[in-house]
Amino acid sequence: MSSQIGFVFCCSLLTTHWSLAPCATMEDNVPPRLGLKIDVDTLEGFRQGIPALLEILAARGIRTSFFVALGPDNSGRAVFRVFRQQGFLEKMWRTRAPALYGLRTMFYGTLLPAPLIGQGAGEILVSLAAAGHEVGLHGYDHVHWHDHLLSMSREEVTRELAQAQDLFRPLLGQAARAFAAPGWQCSAVQRAVLAAGGFLYGSDTRGYAPYFPRFGEQINPVLEIPTTLPTLDELLGFNGCRPEDFTALVLGRLAKADLPQVLTVHAEVEGGPLRQEFANLLDRCREQGVEFFRLEDWARELLREPEKIPAATVRQGRLPGRAGRVSCQGPLEAKP
Ligand SMILES: [Zn+2]
Repeated sequence: MSSQIGFVFCCSLLTTHWSLAPCATMEDNVPPRLGLKIDVDTLEGFRQGIPALLEILAARGIRTSFFVALGPDNSGRAVFRVFRQQGFLEKMWRTRAPALYGLRTMFYGTLLPAPLIGQGAGEILVSLAAAGHEVGLHGYDHVHWHDHLLSMSREEVTRELAQAQDLFRPLLGQAARAFAAPGWQCSAVQRAVLAAGGFLYGSDTRGYAPYFPRFGEQINPVLEIPTTLPTLDELLGFNGCRPEDFTALVLGRLAKADLPQVLTVHAEVEGGPLRQEFANLLDRCREQGVEFFRLEDWARELLREPEKIPAATVRQGRLPGRAGRVSCQGPLEAKP
């Protein structure tokens, strides 16, 4: 229980000061473990980011988890968040978004038609699976989900999932069993759809330890493996944070955590202009003896003893360097 309290405390620190290290302790003989959750949001991420990441990962013998959005690339519509979301303009400016995402991508769905990412994606998806990586879904229309999930009906969410599976299934020969919510936007309705769809686990929230998500009186039966670390695009430039500072932060967290950590990576960013910085981070992790794992494997490990997995409430919160609100894990509930 003390380590649980430690994680709750650390998580609350993380939401205000990115540079503060967590306070949990790790047994010396257990190597730190890191799960890379690679989100692919855009056509650019698919065509340029995935091949670059495959090369970086193969060179280091790392297998990981990719989550792909296969519907229309409406990235241009995200630009309109500037009028609605506190912090979005600041983030666009700080991260030099046009350089990170490419000018073309920034007009998809507005001045340029939205291309369907899943069309012609077969070869790339097959190459991911063939290299031993896990492939899960990152929604259908990423921008639509990000902006509207919390008001979407069960029918709408079911349609988004079905459209994504209809593109996924023929390409990989089976339905996806892992889901990562676009923009960490998670709802009771969406989790119920995951449960009905037979998903093994979701990675929809920001938090500190695996759990079953509670919404009011209801506890969702699908395991949630949250992203535990901040992302590079959130912290770059925030309080003067450089890529090497980010790497130091990740290593510090890994060294002190008593649970495996999950880092979300964006194919458009770490597989794009920041690929060298990402490769450096992986090299530093390997020097420190960090073991990499696929989220699917950890999910199977945890689900061997589901009675040991606690519940926690999901609530909307803000994170340093990220515009708008995301779904966050609340305190763990003690087992009866
Ligand atoms: Zn995404």
